[in-house]
Amino acid sequence: MTSSNAARDLPIAIVGGGFTGTLLAINLLRYGVKVALIERSSAQLAKGVAFGTRRPEHLLNVRASNMSAFPDDTGHFLRWMDFSDADEANRFVPRLTYGMYLREQLVAALAKAGPDARIVDGEACSIEFGDTAAEVRLADGDTVVARAVVLALGNFPPAPHPVLEGVPEPLYCPDPWNAAALEGLAGLDHVMVVGSGLTAADVVLSLDSAGFAGKVTVLSRRGLKPLSHAESGPVVTPVPDPDLRGVALAREVRRRAAEIGWRGAVDALRPHTQNIWRRHSSIAQASFLRHLRPYWDIHRHRLAPSVAKRLEDMEAAGRLRYVAGKLCDAHEEDGRVAVSYRPRGEDRIETLDVARVYNCAGPDGNLARVEAPILTHLLEQGRIRSDVHRLGVDADHLGRVRDADGRVQDRLLAAGPITKGEAWEIVAVPDIRRQVWGLARFLADEHWVGGEGL
Ligand SMILES: Cc1cc2nc3c(=O)[nH]c(=O)nc-3n(C[C@H](O)[C@H](O)[C@H](O)COP(=O)(O)OP(=O)(O)OC[C@H]3O[C@@H](n4cnc5c(N)ncnc54)[C@H](O)[C@@H]3O)c2cc1C
Repeated sequence: MTSSNAARDLPIAIVGGGFTGTLLAINLLRYGVKVALIERSSAQLAKGVAFGTRRPEHLLNVRASNMSAFPDDTGHFLRWMDFSDADEANRFVPRLTYGMYLREQLVAALAKAGPDARIVDGEACSIEFGDTAAEVRLADGDTVVARAVVLALGNFPPAPHPVLEGVPEPLYCPDPWNAAALEGLAGLDHVMVVGSGLTAADVVLSLDSAGFAGKVTVLSRRGLKPLSHAESGPVVTPVPDPDLRGVALAREVRRRAAEIGWRGAVDALRPHTQNIWRRHSSIAQASFLRHLRPYWDIHRHRLAPSVAKRLEDMEAAGRLRYVAGKLCDAHEEDGRVAVSYRPRGEDRIETLDVARVYNCAGPDGNLARVEAPILTHLLEQGRIRSDVHRLGVDADHLGRVRDADGRVQDRLLAAGPITKGEAWEIVAVPDIRRQVWGLARFLADEHWVGGEGL
């Protein structure tokens, strides 16, 4: 395909131009590495799903003070916002504002890089690997030749819900990020949201803001709902890596929580969570995912206080109800959805008649189930495999993807939430910005400098 000397002059191709791909591109360009950033949705370029929202009620769930795109310049976003005092730094800014910040960083980096950077508009569908280069093929037949390819595909839509699949759209809304989810609300009296995490909170707020005046029932296995950030900024006392495992670790976190409050106890663990995950066996990780994950999620991924207050107000007004139970059946009946579920811990079946059902079960990580031509192709070629927990692709700590036989590949890498299996805590901006910063140094053959903030 290309000689090894010529290959050194080729760009790194990044598939996916959301937060992860964009920040990786910016960091690579800083080191003078050529980049081809491939994004299929021009509206999402630099913003991705999370920050491409147009709805002002969708707030960041991380304080402005911790949202710099650059780990070596932690005040960058605050300066961009022109925030100077502590009150401002503690704010939860609309996600669409953050999207504008990211777009501006990308535009500035592209202007500086000139011909070294290329934005490729299209969907990458396959990758062929030669001896020294890789060729990414797009849906329109165009190709990008690169010296390595990084998959930054982001969060996938929720897994199909087996009980809901028979209900026709728009009575059933399988992907809450689809714009159609908020259409045709006039006259709807009662909707059900399946899943109760941050996506569910987004959907409930959007329904309310879009003029939906009816009731929402949020159904999840345990009936848990995300907790709120404190009004004032966190006071996190750094602790050394607890170097504990399993039950002993859970006990220690509970002890610290009783001493300093649950927010402080969870926040103090943040710098260590990836290490904690990695030193547990896959059996222990699976046990965490099965038993503790829902509780970890609601304490760790919190709502902005104003968002939590709005949801509480809806609950108090009888418009929002959280229910613990298992969905048993759902089918169309006279243009509505007849739903039945078994309340948690009980034998009886409850029925509900609702106008629409939303699947907010959280992103699917099962590569074989996700409808994406590039994943199908790479799986068929044996170039990727799922991590052991089916959270995403199997990759090593440098982001190098393992093939079907478990061999790491130097020219196929991954970053962002699809590397959850390796790092677990790799969903929020503070973690991804550090990952891509390190990955850029690795790809640019720079020396490693440990730690965020240098
Ligand atoms: C709703 C939501 C709210 C969040 N809020 C916050 C927050 O407040 N604070 C925080 O720190 N974190 C937040 N996060 C988490 C975090 O910021 C995101 O996980 C992060 O933005 C992920 O970025 P990404 O680029 O990996 O994925 P995505 O944003 O999903 O971007 C992936 C991009 O890849 C493109 N793509 C996919 N496949 C192809 C292909 N084959 N060819 C071309 N392009 C392709 C997609 O079009 C998409 O634009 C939120 C996440 C979500 C989903």
